[in-house]
Amino acid sequence: MVRYVYDFADGGRDMADLLGGKGANLAEMTRLGLPVPPGFTVTTEACRAFLATGAEPQGMAEEVTRHLTALETAAGRELGRPDDPLLLSVRSGARFSMPGMMETVLDIGLTDASVPGLAKVSGSERFAWDSYRRLLQMFGSTVMGVDAALFEEAITRLKEAREAPDDVHLEAADLQGLVETYKRVIRDETGQDFPQSPAEQLRLAILAVFRSWNGERARLYRRREHIPDDLGTAVTVQRMVFGNLGADSGSGVAFTRDPATGRPGLYGDYLANAQGEDVVAGIRNAVPLAELERLDPRSYRRLRDHAQTLERHYRDLCDIEFTIERGTLWMLQTRVGKRTAEAAFAIAAELVEEGLITPDESLARVGGEGLARLMFPRFDTSATGEPLAHGIPASPGAAVGAVVFDSAEAVRRAGAGEDVILVRQETTPDDLPGMVAAQAVLTSRGGKTSHAAVVARGMGKVCVCGAEELSVDTGARRFTTRDGTVVEEGTTVSVDGSAGAVYPGAVPLVASAAMRYLETGEQTDGIVTAVARALSRADSVRRLEVRANADTPEDAARARRFGAQGIGLCRTEHMFLGERRRLVEEMILARTDSARDRALAALLPLQRQDFTGILAAMDGLPVTIRLLDPPLHEFLPDRTELAVRVASAEAAGRRPDPHDVELLDAVSRMHEENPMLGLRGVRLGLVVPGLVAMQVRAIAEAVVERVRAGGSPEAEIMVPLVGAVEELRIEREEVERVLAEVSKESGVAVHCPVGTMIELPRAALTAGRIAGEAQFFSFGTNDLTQTTWGFSRDDVEAAFFSAYLDKGVFATSPFETIDRDGVGRLVRIAVEEGRAARPDLKIGVCGEHGGDPDSVHFFHGAGLDYVSCSPFRVPVARLEAGRAAL
Ligand code: PEP
Ligand code: MG
Repeated sequence: MVRYVYDFADGGRDMADLLGGKGANLAEMTRLGLPVPPGFTVTTEACRAFLATGAEPQGMAEEVTRHLTALETAAGRELGRPDDPLLLSVRSGARFSMPGMMETVLDIGLTDASVPGLAKVSGSERFAWDSYRRLLQMFGSTVMGVDAALFEEAITRLKEAREAPDDVHLEAADLQGLVETYKRVIRDETGQDFPQSPAEQLRLAILAVFRSWNGERARLYRRREHIPDDLGTAVTVQRMVFGNLGADSGSGVAFTRDPATGRPGLYGDYLANAQGEDVVAGIRNAVPLAELERLDPRSYRRLRDHAQTLERHYRDLCDIEFTIERGTLWMLQTRVGKRTAEAAFAIAAELVEEGLITPDESLARVGGEGLARLMFPRFDTSATGEPLAHGIPASPGAAVGAVVFDSAEAVRRAGAGEDVILVRQETTPDDLPGMVAAQAVLTSRGGKTSHAAVVARGMGKVCVCGAEELSVDTGARRFTTRDGTVVEEGTTVSVDGSAGAVYPGAVPLVASAAMRYLETGEQTDGIVTAVARALSRADSVRRLEVRANADTPEDAARARRFGAQGIGLCRTEHMFLGERRRLVEEMILARTDSARDRALAALLPLQRQDFTGILAAMDGLPVTIRLLDPPLHEFLPDRTELAVRVASAEAAGRRPDPHDVELLDAVSRMHEENPMLGLRGVRLGLVVPGLVAMQVRAIAEAVVERVRAGGSPEAEIMVPLVGAVEELRIEREEVERVLAEVSKESGVAVHCPVGTMIELPRAALTAGRIAGEAQFFSFGTNDLTQTTWGFSRDDVEAAFFSAYLDKGVFATSPFETIDRDGVGRLVRIAVEEGRAARPDLKIGVCGEHGGDPDSVHFFHGAGLDYVSCSPFRVPVARLEAGRAAL
C-alpha cells in the first residue's frame, strides 16, 4: 500500500523527492539527535494525487490521524485541548527550495475554547489572543480564500483607533476584539464560520498547502528557476514552538559559514521575543548572532555545536532556522545553503583542506557561471537608483562611459582618451571599430545572438541588447527612455551587462581579482587560489579540449593565456572591414577578370599578415581558419542610404557621384530578402571567382612564412554552410590546388587539414557522405539552431522569446543552451555517421553554445573532441569540461 505520511524519525535526507527538502532535512536532523520539535511529513506523492483528482487520496486522512495521535502521546498533550492545547505549524516543502512562494499556516489547533488554556499555560493573555488572531488571519486567507487585505485593513484601523505605532502596542483586550472582527470578516466573505474543530483545521490546512503548489506566484517562480511543474509539494506538520514568549525567547537564522565570502565561523541574525516570520519580514531590526552570545550564552554555544554537527554531516555550508523558547533551543529547518560565486569557490577549496570532501567533489560544487561572474568587473550598486532602461543581458560585466551614436564618434572620442558607450538600434559589421573602441554596446533591438551580442561577447565587451524601452534617434544623437527622459550624446551612463540594466551617471566599479589571476597568474587572495585549484583539477580530469573563437593576434594571445588549446574558429570576415572595405568593394564591383584580380591581389598580403600574426600567437597549436561566410553586400554601403544620396543629388539638379550610382546598382542587384539563407558560406566560394584561391593562398603563404621563421604553424581550413557533399568536394579541390601551388613555389610542404562546418540540418543528416570529403567537422550551432527551428537568429529573441519562455515552450533560449532534443539530436546523428565513415574524424563545436555550461556537458556526452568559445569563456569551458568528466 502507498504510504503518504512519514514521521520525522522515519525519513532522511536522501528522501527529498518524497518528503521535500524541508521534510527530508528535518528527518535528518531528528536522526542526528538535534533538538527538532516533533512532527511528520505528508508526501509529495499525496500532493500529486490530490492535485490530479481534486480529492484527498484514499487512506491519507487515517494516516494523518495516526501520526497525530503518536505526536500527542509523545507530547502528553492533545491538539487543541482546552486547558493546554498542543498547536501545530503546517508548512510547504518542495524538492527544490521555493522561498515564500507557497503557503504556511501556524497555530493550528487554537479555538474559542482553547484560547484561555493557552493564556494560562503561557502566562500571557496577550500572547494567546495574538496567536489566535494570527491563525484567523492566515487560515482565513490561505485556506478559506478571504482577501488578505481585509484583515490588514481591520488591524490598521484598530491601531489607528488605539494610536498604537505597531502590533506590539496592542493589548490583550484589543486583540480579543480583533479576533471577533476577523471572524466576522470570514463569515461575511465566505458564508462560513471559522472551523472550531482542530482536526478539521489541520485537514483543511494540509489541502490548502497542496493547492498552493499551483498558485500563481509558485508557477511563475518555477518557470524562472526551471523547476518542473509536476513535482508537487510535501507538507510538514510540526509542534509549534514560540519565540515570542518574552525576553528569554527569540528566533533567528544562522549559516555555518559566511555565505557571501565563504569565511568559516557561525554567521547570522537573531531577533529576541519574535517568531521566525517576524525575522524574515524585517518587522524589527535583527541583531548579529554575536549579540545572542551575550544574551544567552548557553543557547548560543548549543547553536554553534549543532551548526558544526550539521556542517560535518552534510559536508557543506548549511543554513539553519532556529527558535529559542524560554531558554530552550529548537532547530526548525536546515538545508545546504545558497551562496555567492566567491563563497562557492572558497568553501569548495576549504572543505578539501579540512579533509571533508575530495578534490573531485570540490570541483562538482563550483560552476562555470560562477566563474564567469568572478571574472567581470563589477558595479557597486548599493547606492544606485532606478535604471534608465532594461534590456537583454547579452555580455556581462560593468561599463561606464559617455553615450555615442555611431562608430566614428566612438573611435574619435576613445582616441582622445574618453570612455564611451556605443548606442545603436542594432549593430552591423560596419560598427566594429566603434565596438572595439567602446566600453560597452547598448542596442534597442536584437537578441542574445544578434551581431552586437555575439561580437561583444567575443571581445569580452559589456553588452545590453534589445532594450526596447529605448527609442534611439541616431540622427538627432540622443535616446529617449520610456518615461520621456532624453539622454544626449556625451552623457555618462553605466551599463550592467550581467543584469541587463542601464543607469544614469557613473556607478563605481570594483575590479576582479579572478581576472587579474587569469591574465597574469598572480594569486592575490584566497578566492583566486580556490579558482586556480578548481581549474587545475578540471584540466586534469577533462577529456574535451577547449579552443577559442578569435580573429586577431591579441585575442589569440589572450585566449592562450586563459588556457585555450588552439583556435576553433577564426572568422575571416572581420578582416574585410575598415580600410580594406575599398578593396572588397572593388572585388565585388569588378566587371573584368583583371579588375577583380587586381583587387584580390591587393587583399592578399593583408590577409597573409593577419594569418601570420594569429599563427604566431598560437604557435604549435591548431588554428581553424574559416573561409569567408557572410553575404557580400554586408561589405557594401546601405542600399537606402545610397538611394537617398543619388536621389537627392538628382533632385538638386546635380549629377550623382558615379561611384554611388555604380554601388547602388550593385547593391540593388545583390539585394536578398533573406540574406542569411542566401548567397553566403560555401556558395560564395563556388560563385565568386578567385575569392577562395586568394584566402587559401594567404593562409598557405602565412604558413610558409612561419615555418621559415622557425615556428610550428598548424593551420586548418574550414568551409562554412555546406549542405551537400558536392559543394565541399568542389571547394576542397580548389583548396588543395592552391596549397600544392604554394608548396611548389616555396619549397615548403604546406599540409592543412580541410574540414567543414556542420550548421545546416541537411549537412547533419548526410554527415556520413560529407565526412568522405572532410578531415574535421565543427558544429556551427548558431546557424544549426536557426535553421533547425526556422528562427531568425537576428530577430526572434526580441520578437517573442520572452513570451515563449513565459509560456514554457522552452526553459532557456535555444541560442544560449543547446536544444538537446532537436538540434542535439542532429549533432548526435552527425557524430555517429561522420565517425562511422571516417573513424579519425576530429569533431568540435564553435557556435556560441561552446562556452555555455549546460551545452558543454552535452558535447562531452555526445563524444566531441573539443569545444571552441570566445576567449573570455575559455576558463568557463575548461571548468565545465572537467565537471562533465566527473
Ligand atoms: C555558427 O553558425 O554557429 C557559427 C559559429 O558561425 P557564425 O556564427 O559565424 O555564423
Ligand atoms: Mg554559422
